[in-house]
Amino acid sequence: MVFCPTCRTLMKPVTDGGEEVCPLCSTLPNIQIESSSGVPGKNGLFPFEKARKGQEELLKDARIALGEGRHLLANAPTGLGKTVVALTASLEVALREDKLVLFLTSKQSQHKAAIDTILLMNKSGSKISAVDVISKQAMCQLPEAKKYSRAFYEYCYLKVRTKSCPFSGGECKSVAELVSQMTMHVHQLVKVCKRYGVCPHKTALMAAAKSHVLVCDYNYIFSDISQQVLTRVERSMGDLIVVVDEAHNLPDRIRSHLCGDLSPRQLRRAIKDSRTYDRALSSLLRAVLRDFLKIFKEKEGEEKAERAEFLDLVIKAIRRASRKELTVMDLIANLEHIGEKVLKEGGSSVLMEMANFLRSWNEMDDGMVRILTHGKRKKISYKLLDPSILSGPVFKEIHSSLVMSGTLHPLSMYADLLGLEKDRTSFGNYPSPFPKENRSIVVTPGLTSLYSKRDERMYRAYADNISSIAESLPGNLAAFFPSYNFLQQVRELMNNWEAKPILMESSSLTK
Ligand code: SF4
Repeated sequence: MVFCPTCRTLMKPVTDGGEEVCPLCSTLPNIQIESSSGVPGKNGLFPFEKARKGQEELLKDARIALGEGRHLLANAPTGLGKTVVALTASLEVALREDKLVLFLTSKQSQHKAAIDTILLMNKSGSKISAVDVISKQAMCQLPEAKKYSRAFYEYCYLKVRTKSCPFSGGECKSVAELVSQMTMHVHQLVKVCKRYGVCPHKTALMAAAKSHVLVCDYNYIFSDISQQVLTRVERSMGDLIVVVDEAHNLPDRIRSHLCGDLSPRQLRRAIKDSRTYDRALSSLLRAVLRDFLKIFKEKEGEEKAERAEFLDLVIKAIRRASRKELTVMDLIANLEHIGEKVLKEGGSSVLMEMANFLRSWNEMDDGMVRILTHGKRKKISYKLLDPSILSGPVFKEIHSSLVMSGTLHPLSMYADLLGLEKDRTSFGNYPSPFPKENRSIVVTPGLTSLYSKRDERMYRAYADNISSIAESLPGNLAAFFPSYNFLQQVRELMNNWEAKPILMESSSLTK
């Protein structure tokens, strides 16, 4: 049965511009809204008659590991059906032990597969509720939210504190109650919240407190926002069963999350932005810029920077400009104070970003490297080198996890990179479900995508090979390229090739 979440009418959706909507109040699509009591269907949670080759082994290992509160690192090939295994095994334990499943993905497109799998489970009789969230900024109802990058959280905080976001004061609780009884994709959830005038992100996390699964990005748990997320979903780390999808991306995602930079360009913008609000701050920043520019050399290249050296530079510059015993913390507080005013009036977030940079530069040390980049791309930056510093404590505290990917090789290296405890971690390699004889690997000598060999002759060789293979095949063919530019170069050389229609991916395509 499908009920409209807005008017609660039992509905048979009609199609409006490709989406199914309620015929009465033209709200919402194709969502299941039945009591999600966490009951497995008559065949258990697994929605198929039987598991395929390799899938069965993975399901068995995942059930054992998660049931025993351990971690399973699974190298399982594409096509095996990992998502359904992960959700089945994790939900079985979660329902038994009152835990919350966190299904973590690195890309928004992977959310769809997880939500579709839960909808499939429910179609086979289970009653599982899942909440799908992306970043707070991407779910924000305010049109200007998109222009803030790293300072979006400060922007939102300010909007809420000053009661200037019309969605922050809405009746989230009852909408969350409603959302927690459904399983729907994030764009549908945003629509429901828009209709009720509530903040989608806050509502989604409140709904997650009453749901069985939260589908979200890695950073919900592997970043500094994890504590806020746990508070919202009313759980502790020990209540979480974590599934990490496409886990080969996790080390790099953690590293890229903990990084920041400051360039003379940003500083010039900060000087400009602060001028109208606080001329004294603006002249402090001008003094910092003057000394900052002196540390760069004209030649290209990077060198290791030291925490103390840059802090000394900042302290000397601000003391010279103000003649007071100012500290870096004073400057950060000032940047935040004026940054708030600028944000409140719809200005840029550069002062907040600079405050964040200085705070992290000053405070973080373990596993970090600080770099000075000379030449045209002048900047000073910090980066996390060792992701286990952040992920190790998380894996230690959570109930259990299934860390899976088709390219998680060697497993022991990933366990090391992520800081998984040796005595609590099992490894599994699973075979491809496809018959070996269906696979043919052919190498064409002389064809290479090596950057230094990319020229008109090489692109032509690719175009000729692709067209002759496509012509000899009875069906269709997909060609994968290492970059959009490479694809474009080869495509142009196939303009006169008409044997089959060509569909080309463009970098501007949405999910
Ligand atoms: S409360 Fe929600 S809608 Fe309002 S600014 Fe923050 S994220 Fe956007």
